[in-house]
Amino acid sequence: MNSKKISIAIDGPAGSGKSTIAKEVALKFGYTYIDTGAMYRAITFKALRENICLTDEQQLTQLANHISIVLVYEPLIDGTQLHVIMDGSDVSEEIRSIEVTNNVSVVAAVSGVREAMVLLQQKMALTGGVVMDGRDIGTVVLPQAELKIFLTASVTERSKRRWLELKEKGIMVELQELEEQIRQRDYLDSHREISPLCQAKQAILLDTTSLTIDQVVTKVIELACTKGAQFDNYLMNKYR
Ligand code: C5P
Repeated sequence: MNSKKISIAIDGPAGSGKSTIAKEVALKFGYTYIDTGAMYRAITFKALRENICLTDEQQLTQLANHISIVLVYEPLIDGTQLHVIMDGSDVSEEIRSIEVTNNVSVVAAVSGVREAMVLLQQKMALTGGVVMDGRDIGTVVLPQAELKIFLTASVTERSKRRWLELKEKGIMVELQELEEQIRQRDYLDSHREISPLCQAKQAILLDTTSLTIDQVVTKVIELACTKGAQFDNYLMNKYR
């Protein structure tokens, strides 16, 4: 059997389940999970902290060219934890704030920021054996990925999922307000000039609106196996 390590690209709008699915799939195959949204969030967090004007493309590009972002992936018994280390500090919590969420699409639309991040992401994926999620992975970052998935779900379902996620963290927001923010982010991400969110030609569309996480994970794993991916038995026995 072919035991090559493949690259898996998972794209889709906010709240479509990309990171949950990508983490599970990466764990099954012993692959590296790369959350590219976290990278754009880290830049946005730093820009806000340094009071950089978010329309100042030059300053944002400079910031993106000098930032250090390391993603540390820690498989746990009850799930997987991703730590985002920015310039040596763990900012995993801070990059999920409402302020960062509401500004990240503006920062991610800057061409210099995207150029810096795409280069970094491509370097991270050089060895193969990666599951990378984002908006432009199948189209721009890893156009050669053996498996491309485009995950989607209705905006109502995606908003509900985010609402529940926030509620679990003790953050209460109006569902309607959240839906409006998601619609706005979807619009900005899919209408920007550079690398807008869109389904790559060879990507397989999975609508997760009425599917469970397990059903989607199973589907993606089946598809990956047809492309030559193999399970990591050591990790499966250790963490499952
Ligand atoms: O995936 P997540 O929702 O954390 O992504 C945050 C934002 O980062 C997206 O709304 C989008 O603006 C930007 N992004 C992007 N390209 C990627 C990943 C994320 O533009 N590959």
